[in-house]
Amino acid sequence: MLLKSINPSSGETIREYPEHQWEEIDQIIRNVKTAFKSWKTTTLTYRIERIKEVARLLEIKKEGLAFTISIEMGKPINESRAEIDKCIWVCHYYCDNIETFLQKRIITTEAQESYISFQPLGVVLAVMPWNFPFWQVFRFAVPAILAGNTAILKHASNVPGCAIAIEDLFNEADFPYDVFRTVLASNRKVERMIANKRVSATTLTGSTKAGQSVAETAGRYLKKCVLELGGSDPYLIFDDADLNHAVDACVKGRLINTGQSCIGAKRFIVTPGIYNDFENLFVEKMKAATIGDPFDEKNQLGPMARGNIREDILSQVNKSVSKGATLLCGGQLIDSPGYYFPATVLSNIQPEQPAYSQELFGPVASLIRATDEQDAIRIANDTTFGLGSAIFTSDIEKAKQIGEQELEAGCCFVNDFVRSDPRLPFGGIKESGYGRELSVFGLYEFINIKTIYVR
Ligand code: NAP
Repeated sequence: MLLKSINPSSGETIREYPEHQWEEIDQIIRNVKTAFKSWKTTTLTYRIERIKEVARLLEIKKEGLAFTISIEMGKPINESRAEIDKCIWVCHYYCDNIETFLQKRIITTEAQESYISFQPLGVVLAVMPWNFPFWQVFRFAVPAILAGNTAILKHASNVPGCAIAIEDLFNEADFPYDVFRTVLASNRKVERMIANKRVSATTLTGSTKAGQSVAETAGRYLKKCVLELGGSDPYLIFDDADLNHAVDACVKGRLINTGQSCIGAKRFIVTPGIYNDFENLFVEKMKAATIGDPFDEKNQLGPMARGNIREDILSQVNKSVSKGATLLCGGQLIDSPGYYFPATVLSNIQPEQPAYSQELFGPVASLIRATDEQDAIRIANDTTFGLGSAIFTSDIEKAKQIGEQELEAGCCFVNDFVRSDPRLPFGGIKESGYGRELSVFGLYEFINIKTIYVR
């Protein structure tokens, strides 16, 4: 089998990569396990030096790496540069804090001495998506490796160039070979890799369906598992919101990464007093979004990453319209090579439409009119997902209360769009998965939190 790297702005094949054969994969897993045995004994100072070197290389190679991202999955070039910057940030964040995070914690008991020691788990297999092909890998790998684990990356089949570039970075940064390895493989090989006795844990960022499959296998072999899955984030816009600010944040939250973000703003639930003004301004700004060549810096939207992703989003829009949704802008394929899909707004959203109940993984916004704030909260929670959420209002205390206690999600942003930040835990509930990445909580996912008790 070949993994195909296709330029989504033209549909042309960039390069084909042969998948690793089973013997090669088994050998890589063996080697990464062997590397673990010595890597876990290295000093934290040495590990920090190596990760700082990765950060330095990311800075030096930023332009080339950003090009690799944009040519393979179509992200506008400025967003690819920002993605590399964020990887540099996560390297520095953990280098600055890891010592504190891993410090042994003394707990006073009746024993002579009792404390918690933080030890690595072993080989962690990461199954990653194409939408932030560097960031998703770095946010898992940096804390895991600093903690003394070793890592295997099975990246999405459409970004093999990114997968290899990441492995090269670790090698160039003088990591002992096999601390971080890329396996070129399609999803069919994941089950057997998880089952391998040398793999201790797994993490998947991707769709709910893929998460269910990985969780099933991880459960069968009792492997620790973290799942970062899909989302249909609700944005609640209340009558007392600052209209211009809310519209700007909502448009940005919806269009980032050409709408292909798990924490993209997806459902806009608006109370009646502000609904008409919000709709008019929102549609105006969505219509103004420029689309085209991801290497032309004036474009806000590039192509969708794959042809089938564009087909899926078109079908969801058409089905929603056939079930009563109103198309306020976009919704038609653009007559040009590549997988372009325009910024689209749907209103009159009803529960039986895909735009209400499914994740829309593209630049398509669902506008929903709530009868009041309580109704808005009810609609926000009327989903199988529970990743991010946002509230726009001038009553901060009310927003905090709703965010903390009422919205079923892993985070709530007040008067801003949702984004990940190395300092804050990130993850979901319900069908958006379980476990956390980033901050100290993400670090502890792949750690044996060990009790030592001396009588
Ligand atoms: P996907 O099909 O689930 O692919 C993601 C990764 O999982 C790829 O490496 C894929 O390999 C692998 N995979 C697919 N099916 C699998 C299976 N049955 N068993 C094991 N591995 C499997 O995801 P996508 O549709 O490309 O990406 C978009 C989805 O990811 C959206 O739902 C989005 O919300 C979600 N996502 C979530 C987060 C988060 O942090 N919560 C972040 C980004 C994206 P192949 O490429 O070989 O199929």
